[in-house]
Amino acid sequence: MAHVDAGKTTLRERILLNAGRIHKAGDVHDGNTEMDWRALEKKHGITISAAATTCDWRDTTITIIDTPGHVDFSVEVERSLRVLDSAVAVFAAPSGVEPQSETVWRQADRIGVPRIGFINKMDQMGADFGMCLRMIVERLGARPVALQLPLGEAAAFRGVIDLVAMTVLIWDAGAREPRFAAIPPERLVEAKEWRRALLEAIVEEDEAALATYLEDENALDERTIKALIRSACLGGRIVPVLCGSAYRNIGVQPLLDAVVDYAPAPEDRPAIEGIDQQNGETIAVAPSPDGPFVALVSKMQMNRHGGLAIARIFSGRLARGDRVLNAATGNMERAARLVRMHANEMADISQAQAGDVIGIVGLKLTGAGETLSDPAHPLVLAGFDCPEPVIEVVVEPQSAKDQERMSQALAMVVREDPSLRLGVDPETGQTLLRGLGELHLMICAESLKEEHNVEVRLGVPQIAFREAISRRTEVDHTLRKQNGGVGQMARVHLVFEPLADDEAGLRFENRTTGGAVPKEFVRSIEAGLRGAMQVGGLAGYPMLGLKATLIDGATHVKDSSSLAFETAAREAFRIGMAKATPVLLEPVMHVAVSTPDDHVGAVIGDLQSRRGRLIGSQANLGGHDIAAHVPLANMFGYVNVLRSLSHGRATFTMRFAHYGRVPDGQAISHAKAEC
Ligand code: GDP
Repeated sequence: MAHVDAGKTTLRERILLNAGRIHKAGDVHDGNTEMDWRALEKKHGITISAAATTCDWRDTTITIIDTPGHVDFSVEVERSLRVLDSAVAVFAAPSGVEPQSETVWRQADRIGVPRIGFINKMDQMGADFGMCLRMIVERLGARPVALQLPLGEAAAFRGVIDLVAMTVLIWDAGAREPRFAAIPPERLVEAKEWRRALLEAIVEEDEAALATYLEDENALDERTIKALIRSACLGGRIVPVLCGSAYRNIGVQPLLDAVVDYAPAPEDRPAIEGIDQQNGETIAVAPSPDGPFVALVSKMQMNRHGGLAIARIFSGRLARGDRVLNAATGNMERAARLVRMHANEMADISQAQAGDVIGIVGLKLTGAGETLSDPAHPLVLAGFDCPEPVIEVVVEPQSAKDQERMSQALAMVVREDPSLRLGVDPETGQTLLRGLGELHLMICAESLKEEHNVEVRLGVPQIAFREAISRRTEVDHTLRKQNGGVGQMARVHLVFEPLADDEAGLRFENRTTGGAVPKEFVRSIEAGLRGAMQVGGLAGYPMLGLKATLIDGATHVKDSSSLAFETAAREAFRIGMAKATPVLLEPVMHVAVSTPDDHVGAVIGDLQSRRGRLIGSQANLGGHDIAAHVPLANMFGYVNVLRSLSHGRATFTMRFAHYGRVPDGQAISHAKAEC
């Protein structure tokens, strides 16, 4: 994981090269790296989707999952972090911790992923290893522990001092393998100091080691030191830090050694939580091949022939041809083919087990982020947050005859990316595509063209408003229609209430007694409400959240049907909305600005003038980090304003925080957003 441009793609290529998986490292400039195989990614030069590839190093199989560095793809990052066991955080030595590394780092903190740091680009002017370590402390609140020191500065960078083995590794120009040398005498005192800092950070991991160390600082052997580093890293108490230059292939093999030595194997990871679909209880899923099968689909890649699901098996085994259950939707799926992936090559395998990240071909109805489980043990892994889309745009096919193909292609794209949603403009009937930002929607449109061969036109991006009700209301509604012979009759008595601020979706409860409404009709009522929520009750925006309780109802022997109950529920919803004072909600963004001290006042003043609410301000190296919640509608043109306010020196990131009420009288009709 890394900030865009830190050198992740280059590093991954070197890893595959050194591990013998590829024979010529691709260069990102040429757009021919082995894993960024999707045409689009090549064009944009960024890794959009977290591809997975496998390589072997020493006696260990390592699966590499590449995470995208752009904030619009934070959902993919989140899913990647959920399926991996540890992360290598790549920083660029001249710039250190940048805002996007911070975002991803905090996600990893929340999920509890052990990390190793790699300070890349040590061969560039201005590379500063010490500064990077300090920034990891100050910006990320972590405890970095150097395992190496750089040897030679900028263009003269040629190797590392290994503080564990107290030796030097040098990569001579053109050599793939390093040669060993002694630590230069003038660096020896410094190396010993850093080694002491390393030992002091880890020695408390084990009482016997501590006793030995206190008696004699030099008594710990290499094996013990490595075991202590591993224990501290696994517990998240330290972040071992290495350095190198991916571009020049310096320091890559020691990084692979560190992954084998210090990163956890699947069985070292704690159990994860899942919800048992039979009784709603939360259960712990231990990482064992002998438990019932459970896997999380972290990614879905669709094409005309079907889908390839990238899945992490958390428990149990899966064999080719097995039938598995998507317990959230109730769909049975067949794992027709299992594959191990290496960039755009796939090798068929006959089975896989807990800890493996594999490709599954043949799933017909499952999307990214969903759980597959043993049909006898239906389970859904505890949810990961999928942010609400904040921007929407009208999509239309270039030519009217492509309407049907566009709809099919959009359905596939949405299966790949659950942070994209589809909707319909209630006034014009046009298709709406909702997503996390302008780049997100643009890339989706391009992927329709490049991968599905459907050209579309996008309208002007608009803010994705939502609606909610602001008070409780009760509706007792009877649908009665008589068309010739068969009539429609359904009575529903519903209570509508607002949900708590942080809840979304429909919370539906059936409190009827004595079978007043048969089960199948209750399901129709729920479906009717869900459908009605999509168009809200005020200005046609989807309703963000709603609590609906069915307290009574009635049927007619002949004239009641599912359709009648669904229609009655929709009508009751409309009546209820008119009475429950609906309000408009707008996306409010978390904006984080990093600015030099001279511009702090100007930056804060400007944020406040945008209806921003300051939530924090903190000194960092030579500047301030300012955080505020600002309505997306007021972030228009912020890039340029911030640039001129700070003479180009401040940077910012923005992500969705929550929905907030639009103040009365606020003009919204043509609010345009720029993300
Ligand atoms: P990503 O966005 O993190 O995947 O970064 P890339 O791997 O695409 O690298 C961004 C740019 O930095 C490319 O032009 C690379 O050639 C260059 N680069 C990557 N690693 C190094 C390095 O160690 N030293 C130097 N000098 N350049 C590097």
